Amino acid sequence: MSVIDLINAENKTAFSFEILPPLKGAGIDKLMSDIETLLPYNPKYINITTHRSEYVYMPEPNGMYCRKLTRRRPGTVAVAAAIKAKYGVTVVPHILCSGYTPEETEYTLIDLQFLGISDLLVLRGDKAPHQKSFTPEDGGHAHAIDLQHQINKYNQGFFFDGKEMDKLPPQFCYGVACYPEKHEESPNAERDLYWLQQKVEAGAQYAVTQMFFDNEKYFDFVDKARKAGINVPIIPGIKPLKKMAQLNVLPRTFKIDLPEALASEVRKCKSDEEVAALGCEWTINQCKELMAHGVPSIHFYSVGAVDSIAKIAKAIY
Ligand code: FAD
Repeated sequence: MSVIDLINAENKTAFSFEILPPLKGAGIDKLMSDIETLLPYNPKYINITTHRSEYVYMPEPNGMYCRKLTRRRPGTVAVAAAIKAKYGVTVVPHILCSGYTPEETEYTLIDLQFLGISDLLVLRGDKAPHQKSFTPEDGGHAHAIDLQHQINKYNQGFFFDGKEMDKLPPQFCYGVACYPEKHEESPNAERDLYWLQQKVEAGAQYAVTQMFFDNEKYFDFVDKARKAGINVPIIPGIKPLKKMAQLNVLPRTFKIDLPEALASEVRKCKSDEEVAALGCEWTINQCKELMAHGVPSIHFYSVGAVDSIAKIAKAIY
């Protein structure tokens, strides 16, 4: 079943989470064991992130370094297929503009079609670390909506070059990203919402939020989205705090605020273990309030927090 059907079929808040493909060379065992930790809580679907190529500096025998374009976390499609085959859960690989040409995207769509994977999260993707600002590949897509158009065309039976397929493919169902605290590049929240509305009109069946720690920001965002005529499910993305350092790292990386009530409690903690316990407590309260508001699904960002998410899921589901 596709994500949208799973959400619509559920009369209570569904559980889902996002995982990252393993670092190149790390193997898949740890990832599978993380998934098995969370399987007892009946995830309706699992998202798999995608990571573009970036420059790394490789040591040379002569003591110099050579700059090489490499993908540190390859394997999104294969990881998705492995999870689907092993656990029979709906998988949602992320598909990006960043680092991909439309031709490469088309090959990914073909791979996914042959693997029987038809759910996607369609994203522009982050800029590469060596880029000052996001820059598409030559002939590549500048925004998620442009990638949506390519997928829509594929769904209608046309390749990117306009050539018609011999047979209509199975239909991809997709969601997009949204930002209760505004996307960092948007001049204002209204403009950001305008583009979300365009993404929904272009075929996004649901939206998943960037992480937030203050439910009021989510409620206010959903309110504004509804007033703007955006009627698809807006799935809250939630991350439990695990470490003291996240007090600075999360706002810097994701351009979000941590509420003072949370930040001041974190500052009182004497160890990361105490922060993790506080993070669980905060997230459980956050989730209970979201559930009381009837959110369709809670989507957990699991990186580095699988054990916390298991505790939270046990407490709320
Ligand atoms: P867009 O929708 O293209 O929006 C980017 C900015 O441009 C926004 O400010 C928007 O208001 C504006 N905008 C949108 N359309 C237009 C247009 N047509 N013309 C002008 N302006 C426009 N990154 C990864 O690299 N890999 C991942 O797997 C990944 N997963 C994610 C999952 C979730 C749930 C979220 C919330 C984010 C994820 N990201 C991931 C990060 C995401 O790719 C970045 O936040 C990126 O900067 C924006 O992506 P987007 O799809 O929202 O872009």
